[in-house]
Amino acid sequence: MKRAVIGLTILMGLWLILGMIVPGLPVAQEVTSDEASATPAVTSEPTRSETEAALYPMSHERKELLISYSQFTNQWRFISFGLGILTLAILLVTGLSAKFRTWAYKARRRFFVIFIFFALIMIADYLLNFPASYYRNFVIEHEYGFSNQTFQAWLWDDIKGLLITLVLGVFPVWFFYWLVGYMKRWWLAFTLGAIPFIIALVVVAPVVISPLFNDFTKIEDPQLESRLLELAGRAGIDDPAVLQVNASEQSSKLNAYVTGLFGTKRIVLYDTMIDNFTYDEILFVMGHEMGHYVMNHVWWGVGITIVFMLFALWLMDLLIHPVIRRFRRAFKFDSLEDIASLPLVLIFVSIITFAFQPVTNSASRYMEHQADIYGMEIAGVPGETAAIAFDKLSVFNLSDPNPPELVEFWFYSHPALSKRMEFVRSYQPTGQL
Ligand SMILES: [Zn+2]
Repeated sequence: MKRAVIGLTILMGLWLILGMIVPGLPVAQEVTSDEASATPAVTSEPTRSETEAALYPMSHERKELLISYSQFTNQWRFISFGLGILTLAILLVTGLSAKFRTWAYKARRRFFVIFIFFALIMIADYLLNFPASYYRNFVIEHEYGFSNQTFQAWLWDDIKGLLITLVLGVFPVWFFYWLVGYMKRWWLAFTLGAIPFIIALVVVAPVVISPLFNDFTKIEDPQLESRLLELAGRAGIDDPAVLQVNASEQSSKLNAYVTGLFGTKRIVLYDTMIDNFTYDEILFVMGHEMGHYVMNHVWWGVGITIVFMLFALWLMDLLIHPVIRRFRRAFKFDSLEDIASLPLVLIFVSIITFAFQPVTNSASRYMEHQADIYGMEIAGVPGETAAIAFDKLSVFNLSDPNPPELVEFWFYSHPALSKRMEFVRSYQPTGQL
């Protein structure tokens, strides 16, 4: 056990150090402007504002904030991944997971055993991760001026998230361990069984889960509402559910999204965007969202999730058994069937998901580009207006318009804002959808 702990500690330490200092890694290449960079800008491209006139004015101070926030978020991708694995590894190598399993077996029924065990693991994981989560999601978001939520309000949102995970997560965990003890190709059966669960979750989430955090109302500004309805009519969406959400409660960041399936399908617009965008800019953003809507991107997302799940679980089945055999003494369990293996399962899921983000994100970036085309076709706003909308997203959300190629390839679910700006500026609508 000691060797396992030492080995893990060294590995994690190396990972964190690598993530922060090695120039070959994307996090160290994050240079968006020459003047604010501590390292020579060998690999950096000149930013948009250096090569062209700025679309949306940004103060020097704001730009420095943008650079440091982008650097931080890039480093944090590695740090949070490493910390997530570290906390799960602690539960494993300290034998805590095995201890929780022994306690949970005091319950009689299998489902309650699983629920108690799962709850203990999740709560322990939550507590171990709490300092990092507090720092990232409370301290940093306040420091950069995105949030003015009180600590109590933030903590309550966070705990609600944990409770939802406990209630919903127990079903897949129970199903997983039932199948693993039952058949060899459990990964195939699990994925097939997960399909109705995932679909049900996407249907229910916007009407049951999201309202636990925010208020969703119809568009309050009647003029904006009628323009959005007209746009939806052009997109051939009858009876569209276009809602606004009081996202400003948590953060000043701007956004809009499409979610739900069947009767819960909806387009949601943040109040922060309504407050800061012109009608035409909102129209382009909503044209983009309507593109997701009519091209059924939510279904595509579900499909990609299922295919990826099948692959990830198959790969995990291939790799996890030798690891359990090798460390069974430290872990205090000797097969995947033992529910004490859950933290190890989560470690594998986390690593495989991280490793295959380029694949899933490439698919996402493709759909986002299709939605941009759709938005340009349908909104009828000049390319320059659409470009200003993107530029405002960069300035308000402090997101790097020009991230290093590798960072974009690995982590970005949307194409880099500079590319999207360039695209909309030169795009000539064809008039045919
Ligand atoms: Zn989109």
